[in-house]
Amino acid sequence: MNSPAPSLTDTTLVADVNARLRDVPNFPKPGIVFKDITPVLADPHLFGRVINAMSAPFRGQHVTKVVGVEARGFLLGAPIALALHAGFVPARKPGKLPYRSIVERYSLEYGADGLEMHEDAIQKGERVLVVDDVLATGGTAEATAKLVQKLGGELVGFSFLIHLDFLDGVKRLGRDKVTSLLSF
Ligand code: AMP
Repeated sequence: MNSPAPSLTDTTLVADVNARLRDVPNFPKPGIVFKDITPVLADPHLFGRVINAMSAPFRGQHVTKVVGVEARGFLLGAPIALALHAGFVPARKPGKLPYRSIVERYSLEYGADGLEMHEDAIQKGERVLVVDDVLATGGTAEATAKLVQKLGGELVGFSFLIHLDFLDGVKRLGRDKVTSLLSF
């Protein structure tokens, strides 16, 4: 395990996931190497092991809500919520949620984006885990954490499948809060 998470130590799993991840160069724009997790999700045994490993550091930590970030954070976050006996909350791109929502804007390399959450999705004092597939610069996860905190939730941590170390996102989120299975 080569991540900031000392608790994720299944080296066989790391190798198995690594073997199935697909790098797609120049997607969605030139210069980006997209980490495609769909081959991992398509393997039921591997998918189950990934969910177990991403949940493990947070077992016994009384997590009551797992927030998944649109869209691949939904695919990992929902089964992690079930594994932790917690509820699932989607953080969505602006204009997608049907009910009253709060918004957090954040800047990207070019331009800006935003995330929204239903205003009643998290109650004051709830213990919340944020889940996504890839941690890059940390802007997305940081905005999600702000939404959680605006609603009075207590941020327990972040669980990522992949962490792009060279982009320093961990620094933005707090090294002690971040776990990830793979690091590049
Ligand atoms: P960031 O806000 O820079 O940390 O970017 C994280 C968000 O962008 C996550 O929702 C990821 O799914 C997505 N993302 C960023 N870089 C990549 C990448 N190289 N491959 C796949 N997804 C990525």
